[in-house]
Amino acid sequence: MSQAPSSTPSGTVYIVGSGPGDFDLLTLRAARLIGEADAIVYDHLIADGVLELARPGADKIYAGKESSRHSVPQEELNRLLVRLARAGKKVVRLKGGDPFIFGRGGEEIETLVDSGIRFEVVPGVTAAAGCAAYAGIPLTHREHAQAVVFATGHLKDGTINLDWPSLARPRLTVVFYMGVGGIAEICRQMIAHGLPREHPAAVVQHGTTRRQRVLTADLATLPSQVAAARITAPALIIVGTVVRLHRRLAWFLPPPAESIG
Ligand code: SAH
Repeated sequence: MSQAPSSTPSGTVYIVGSGPGDFDLLTLRAARLIGEADAIVYDHLIADGVLELARPGADKIYAGKESSRHSVPQEELNRLLVRLARAGKKVVRLKGGDPFIFGRGGEEIETLVDSGIRFEVVPGVTAAAGCAAYAGIPLTHREHAQAVVFATGHLKDGTINLDWPSLARPRLTVVFYMGVGGIAEICRQMIAHGLPREHPAAVVQHGTTRRQRVLTADLATLPSQVAAARITAPALIIVGTVVRLHRRLAWFLPPPAESIG
């Protein structure tokens, strides 16, 4: 605050989750803040229609972030948020899903704290919750799983640095974000650490949207099936016997791919 020009009171930065893809899953609070913002700094996976809630004249700034190419380096982005707020603007930093689940919301806030900028965090429906609901795969279930873990399946130098013994457990559901590129490694490690080759596993691509695809298989065959179906990001991997429920509980049937414009 001390560095803010005395004539312009510093603005506020709202770190807002926009949900997993279906426009209707945006919270009322997110919709209101987007409509009031002077500047919206948005990421790659924002549901169609969300930016149209911005008022005419609001600055819309794309900050990117697709797994291999980061359009704006994080440092620069942090500085941009500080600069906009110091200019007195009401800033919405719009992210896919929930800002605190693999969303770097924490890192961005640290810079705001260091710079004395006011901020608020608005939660969103995270991809795991959205995809599970729309795929008919309850993440917990009294007969299947008493706990659920969200893990990153991001490959770094060909490996994934996770505590595999704690993930390859019975009666546990594990949801891997950013895991399609590393799916062979994920399934291999889960089997190597004790889960049966037949342990159920699924992939949900473009969950909650008209492009949603759900593929269910087991740990041994999921990687080849995902390759054959040409499933790419954004997709989640769900590992656990809850996946068996999909056959009976699936309810969301997006139109066939060829009818999507
Ligand atoms: N903060 C976000 C996650 C960002 S990491 C959240 O809470 O959801 C980006 C990863 O999220 C993607 O690689 C993918 O694994 C997952 N993801 C996001 N939207 C998705 C969707 N509609 N369907 C499937 N996976 C999705």
